[in-house]
Amino acid sequence: MLANIRIVLVNTSEPGNIGGVARAMKNMHLEHLMLVQPELFPSAKATARASGADDILARASVCQSLDEAIAGCGLVLGASARMRRLTWPQVDARQCAEKVIAEARHTPVAIVFGREHSGLTNEELERCHYLVNIPSNPAYSSLNLAAAVQVIAYELMMAAQQAQSLVSPAESTVLPQEAPATAEQMQGFFEHLFAVLAEIGFLNTEHPRKMSRRLKRLFNKAQLEKVEVNILRGILATMQKKLSE
Ligand code: SAH
Repeated sequence: MLANIRIVLVNTSEPGNIGGVARAMKNMHLEHLMLVQPELFPSAKATARASGADDILARASVCQSLDEAIAGCGLVLGASARMRRLTWPQVDARQCAEKVIAEARHTPVAIVFGREHSGLTNEELERCHYLVNIPSNPAYSSLNLAAAVQVIAYELMMAAQQAQSLVSPAESTVLPQEAPATAEQMQGFFEHLFAVLAEIGFLNTEHPRKMSRRLKRLFNKAQLEKVEVNILRGILATMQKKLSE
């Protein structure tokens, strides 16, 4: 289960933090580190902070975009120290671990961490099914990046151990669930949906961004399966055909 989990760091500016994250991950049995446009990587500072976890750094993937880093993932969570104005489905570190461990049995899962100075943008959070928050002092809620990864990784390891001890070998081979839609399938669906909504004049309101954000939140909440996305896209394609007749 832990092998199906990716830790994604967006635009990290301090290479020492990348090393600290690698160390935090290896301590908790996590392996897959994805770096979206890091300011400086590889670097001696990262390797020094990683200590004996430099193998995680050596195998880390450097990506040009968040979309690339979350490709193929059926569940994506974004770690945020702040509450957002538009309430996104939110879980704490422990609830995050339960969800991730349940999903990671059958799909890759990504947990995305933001920039040291400004966290994640709303556009980045829109790619996430859930926002994950580590409960902390409201007057001083922002943890160091590697410390935040450490807390989440610890909860993941504990939840994985718990799940393993609860599931007997016979039960662990139960029915495969339906495949969840991947991040790229969700993006494709949203593009298609907004194109059709624009064609029928629905998105032509004063606040198209606010509306599209709400719609994304609605569909992300449903954690759609591949088959369901195909049905929705089939409906959209049929509407487009009718419109062009
Ligand atoms: N100044 C930034 C915080 C950046 S800390 C801001 O106000 O958003 C770097 C990253 O660590 C954050 O983007 C987030 O992914 C993670 N992080 C820090 N504190 C956290 C907390 N309390 N809960 C969840 N994630 C946290």
